[in-house]
Amino acid sequence: MKVALRDDDTSYFTAPEALDRVYGDIWDRVPVCLAVVPFAIGYQQPGIPRAHWHSGESFALHRNHALVAFLRGLIAAGRVTIALHGYTHQDYPGGYEFQAAPDLPDRVRHGRSYLESVLECRISVFVPPHNALSKRGLAAVAASGLDILGSFLSFRPSMRPWEWRAAANWWRIQRHRRAIGRTRREPFIYPHALRYASHAEFGCHSLVPGTTIDALTQQFEEARSLGGNFCLATHYWEVEATLKSVMRAFLDLAARQPCVRFVRAEELFA
Ligand SMILES: [Zn+2]
Repeated sequence: MKVALRDDDTSYFTAPEALDRVYGDIWDRVPVCLAVVPFAIGYQQPGIPRAHWHSGESFALHRNHALVAFLRGLIAAGRVTIALHGYTHQDYPGGYEFQAAPDLPDRVRHGRSYLESVLECRISVFVPPHNALSKRGLAAVAASGLDILGSFLSFRPSMRPWEWRAAANWWRIQRHRRAIGRTRREPFIYPHALRYASHAEFGCHSLVPGTTIDALTQQFEEARSLGGNFCLATHYWEVEATLKSVMRAFLDLAARQPCVRFVRAEELFA
């Protein structure tokens, strides 16, 4: 069983110490997939200085020299891998970035090549800002060939660009739900990568304020009993002492299972 860790929202606004505080004692044990915003525009979020919540100014990652040097070192040491997390991560009146922004294919193409050259790495995974993708957003990411690591992925064929795999995967999910006695309205994360024509998708389990170790244990046990894999997703900027202890308890629980191997998130798609 593969177990991976994903962390969202690293951007120009991120101090290296903020990542080190959460993952300094973790990333030698479990590599962290950092979902990075290449040209962040501020929005209301505790990890972003209040002065930029509404400034509308775009901050290219390379302007934070200390962070870039820090990330390059972490990548070289195998402690982190990099995923593309939108382009600006800004919110629009009509929705989140990958629901409402114009030029989504350009954002994926340029965001990816920019991060690959600034951080000297390869990128194969996309994480949608706010885990939100419109049909158009999904088409833009799928066309780029990037695999998607989400949290609330929609399997409904009507929400997706047409291809026969969309219908096949939808039936697979329905069969699966029935097999474990889960209704359509109940939350459900399919523990295997779902393959589409040019990319694959995998759903993560959220670690947010209020998440308990009991809840994570239950989700983990379900994935394990289904012969699946597991990815835990969080935001460094909201990990305080309580959440950190839940994260550590979860990793300890996973490490005790002989079948578990901690992997880079990219390996969930292998
Ligand atoms: Zn985000």
